[in-house]
Parts: sequence; C-alpha cells; structure tokens
Amino acid sequence: MRPLIHSRLVNPPFGDPGLYIEFMFERRGMLFDLGDLRPLSDRRLLRVSHVFVSHTHMDHFAGFDRMIRILLGRDRTLYLFGPQGFIERVWHRLASYTWNLVRNFKTDLVLVVGEYAGGSGMTVARLSCRDGFAVESLAPRPAPHGILVDRPDYRVRAAVVDHGIPCLAFTIEQKQHVNVWRNRVEEMGFRVGPWLRELKQAILRGDDVGSAFRVHWRDADGTARDEVHPLGELRDRLTGIVPGQKITYVTDVRWSESNRDAIVELARNSDLLYIEAAFLDADADLAAAKNHLTAAQAGRLARAAAVRRMLPFHFSPRYGDREADLRQEAEAHFGGGTAVAK
Ligand SMILES: [Zn+2]
Repeated sequence: MRPLIHSRLVNPPFGDPGLYIEFMFERRGMLFDLGDLRPLSDRRLLRVSHVFVSHTHMDHFAGFDRMIRILLGRDRTLYLFGPQGFIERVWHRLASYTWNLVRNFKTDLVLVVGEYAGGSGMTVARLSCRDGFAVESLAPRPAPHGILVDRPDYRVRAAVVDHGIPCLAFTIEQKQHVNVWRNRVEEMGFRVGPWLRELKQAILRGDDVGSAFRVHWRDADGTARDEVHPLGELRDRLTGIVPGQKITYVTDVRWSESNRDAIVELARNSDLLYIEAAFLDADADLAAAKNHLTAAQAGRLARAAAVRRMLPFHFSPRYGDREADLRQEAEAHFGGGTAVAK
C-alpha cells in the first residue's frame, strides 16, 4: 500500500535547508525549518499545522515572516517547536512589526510555541494576534524521550544536538495503520459499523488471531445481526496493514561522539534520512570549525543508524560544481542504496 506521508526538500541541495511533509488524503502539511520558502505555494503553506525549527540561523528561520503573513487574518492555530531560546526569538521577530489594529480583527491567529532544551519536558507559550502577540506562558508540557507531538497516527520526536549552539534534529514516525476493504465487507454479507473500529483496534493490539470476534450490524430494515468469526480470518479477508514510515531530518551539527550517539538513536531504522553533507572530507577541518558535517560523516551516520535511504542536502556553495563528489562521498561511506534527492 502507498505510504500516507510524503516528504520533499523545499529547496535544491545548495539552497536553504527545509523539508515539507504532506499527509496524503488529508490536506495537512508540516515544515521542518523555515528558510527560503519561495518554492512552496501559498496553498501548500496554508496546509501547514506544525513547524519544527532546528535553530534560528537565518537560513533556517527567515521564512517565518512569509508563514505568518499568509496566516494573518485567519482563524488558525499554528504549532511551532524549536530549541532553547526559541520563544524569545519568535517574539522578537513579531515585535518588530506594529500591531495596533489587530484588536479589531474578527479572527485570531494563535501561535503555540514549544521550546525543547532536552530532558522530558518543554517550555510552552501562547502568542495570540489579538493580544499583539504578547507572550503568555503556559504550563510546561511533557516531552518524554523528546516526543514533541504524539497523535493517534504519528509522532514527532526531537534530539538536542550541538552546532556550536543547541540545535534540534527531528524524526516523524507514522504509526502502523489498518485499512479496511469496504467492498469485501459487503461481499462477506456484513454492513459497516462501529465494529470495524473495534476490529482495527484488536489487530493493532495484537490480539490472538484465533480469538473470537463478534461482527455486529443492522440490516437495511433495522434488524440487528451478528456473527462470530476468528479474528485472523477477518484480518486476512477484510484488512490490509500499512506499515508506519519513519522520516528523519538532521542538519547543522558538528561531528562529535555525543552528536553521533544522539543522531544514531534518533534516526535508527528510518525509511528516509535527510542529512546535511555540507563539506567534503578533505575539508574536515573547515567543517569542524563551522560546526557542520562532511559528506563522509553523514554517510557513516546513515550507516550506523541502519537507515533504508539517505538523502544528503545542505551542500556548501563552495562546491557549486562538485555536487556529484559530495553525493559519491556520502554514498561510499553509507554503503547502501543512496537515493538521489530531486
Ligand atoms: Zn546553522
């Protein structure tokens, strides 16, 4: 079955870093980093409900204004997450504009901003347009193991990494999902009803396939009907399992043992790893001085995390004519089936 989340880099690999994630069939999107957003249409940006910012160097945050400009005047809540100091940075960006007219707005744009500095909790603030985006502190929220968002169908987790400053790497893990073939429900003589949700839950819980499952429904004339079947039979005849996808985004980190451990733990077994490969290994000293990875280091991290596909990006402009060298170096150290980022 087709994966339910699609991801793509916002810009070509020499442009500003950023990843756009779209949930198929839901018109819902997410953004990892807010650099140059010009390649994204207003329509796509309007779908974004959650934004995750690795750090506030300009190439990761300059698109914040465009995002706010598009949402202004709409009744919306936008969730933003970033590293230590993020709430203050967001407020400063907004405070450079004049907001004397917003009290008369019929709509309210609300930003809920989470700041994750490691550990098992995060600082949260609410900035509402009608209040001129004044910072209202909310109660801290739990973030066990760096989990920033936990929804029935997916979760997003962060790890604090060192870029000379605290920076966040992110992973989105879509949970396993059960699809029901409606036509087969009718073929078996049943009708749809709340029992389908119970069936999905029993399958996801891993209940014994031999256990008896009661299918109950009402016929067109309102007669209550029920039948008992083994769970395994219903699972095999009526449903398909869509495995969860894991997509990890790592950029702007120095090569160090603690970064290595944090990244490998976060990215382990990802289906896709987007990872910066800023420098060639011949310039490893320069990479270290600028707190970035080399392509070889990116490849080694992808290999250690046993990811299925690696997509290197955030190439330093100094290699403008050597993109192939960066990709080859990363691939050589990954040793897997490196995909070519489009
Ligand atoms: Zn940076």
